[in-house]
Amino acid sequence: MVDFADDSDEAAFRAEVRQVITEHAPRSRAGRMRRAVEGLSDEVRQEQADWREALIERRWIVPNWPTEYGGAGLPVKDQFILSQELAEAGTWNISGLGTMMFGPTLIVHGSKQQKQEHLPKILDDSYQWCQGWSEPGSGSDLASLQTRALRDGDEYVINGQKIWTSGAHTADGMYFIARTDPDAPKHRGISFFWMSMKLPGITVQPLVNLADQHSFNEVFFEDVRIPADHLIGQENRGWYHATTLLDYERSGIGNSIGTRRQVERMLAMAKELPPEQSMLGRNEMVRLTFADRIADAAVGMLFSFRITTMQSKGEIPNYEASVAKLFNSEMTQRIAALNIKLFGLYGNLVDPDREEGERGVAARAYLTAVSSTIGGGTSEIQRNIIATRGLGLPRG
Ligand SMILES: Cc1cc2nc3c(=O)[nH]c(=O)nc-3n(C[C@H](O)[C@H](O)[C@H](O)COP(=O)(O)OP(=O)(O)OC[C@H]3O[C@@H](n4cnc5c(N)ncnc54)[C@H](O)[C@@H]3O)c2cc1C
Repeated sequence: MVDFADDSDEAAFRAEVRQVITEHAPRSRAGRMRRAVEGLSDEVRQEQADWREALIERRWIVPNWPTEYGGAGLPVKDQFILSQELAEAGTWNISGLGTMMFGPTLIVHGSKQQKQEHLPKILDDSYQWCQGWSEPGSGSDLASLQTRALRDGDEYVINGQKIWTSGAHTADGMYFIARTDPDAPKHRGISFFWMSMKLPGITVQPLVNLADQHSFNEVFFEDVRIPADHLIGQENRGWYHATTLLDYERSGIGNSIGTRRQVERMLAMAKELPPEQSMLGRNEMVRLTFADRIADAAVGMLFSFRITTMQSKGEIPNYEASVAKLFNSEMTQRIAALNIKLFGLYGNLVDPDREEGERGVAARAYLTAVSSTIGGGTSEIQRNIIATRGLGLPRG
């Protein structure tokens, strides 16, 4: 059963989050859009710095980490409330691969020395990580990866290539998986490592996406030497270390709320615009599609509540997380399509002077939405999981 109600402790935590947002979150729209890094005024930068400080101080950047490792140690429901309130307020959290993936992996599998070295730099957001998983030919079938890590005395020598590595061009370090035993069955010959991105032998080549943005890269390793103590956990157990730990925020509540807010914003703008600039009122299908998209957003929210309810009871969402991922990512694309349809050719214009410029970014949002059904596991893979684990159907 889905549980919507806050108990008294949860209500108190929600009130605290709201108060912190009121007091510290950036006031300007530019300040709330953390991804906008160029052309920000000193005032906006200051707003962002204050908010960052407020999040770090409360350990809300690591709400799920145990307190002994510097986390907030929040119960699942409070983690959900935090994400929910931040999304409702339209503001951001400092979430990255360090807080969501690498840190939790180290807490479980890392040595004492590795924890001491890396966790403090994740907690104060001073060291950025990228994730070296995918390779050409090894995406959905990740365990077929070919990058080699060969033991040579006190070092491993890395050769191979990663692809689609988000943020490799700005990251300080990479955690990655590589093959240490080519003769073992494919899942059993893989190990988990970390390396500095500054080492000799690493080449990062930009990959520009179809929205003309540089966010991911190809990364080449040519005889890159790393100390043997950069191995995390046990040799040849890296596949299990890498896949047992998933992002704490599996409910996708931030995404669902963000989507609902986007539909509401589009609606408000469409009502405001002169009729020749919007298709609303001129095209019956647009009107009805709006109704469908608002219904979609409500369904997305219910999937999120369901997952959190399961987590609160100590159950591990399995195919349920795939249902939510599949639905939310495809919804993102349907909403981007509505945005384009709504503004017709005006959707292709970029209007930098318009702060509430939904229309000006419609075309770019449409293009970036394409990747939502690929990253983090494609829609086909999610459907396979739902069919086999959820419905008990045979493998295709
Ligand atoms: C925005 C974005 C950011 C990313 N960031 C990173 C990152 O930081 N680090 C990283 O390592 N990777 C990253 N990736 C890569 C991502 O993990 C892979 O793109 C994804 O796992 C799919 O792998 P692939 O691209 O090799 O496609 P493939 O696995 O080659 O799939 C090609 C097509 O075949 C289908 N297919 C494959 N296998 C099956 C099957 N068994 N049944 C049915 N259909 C199937 C797929 O659904 C897809 O349509 C990112 C991707 C995106 C889009």
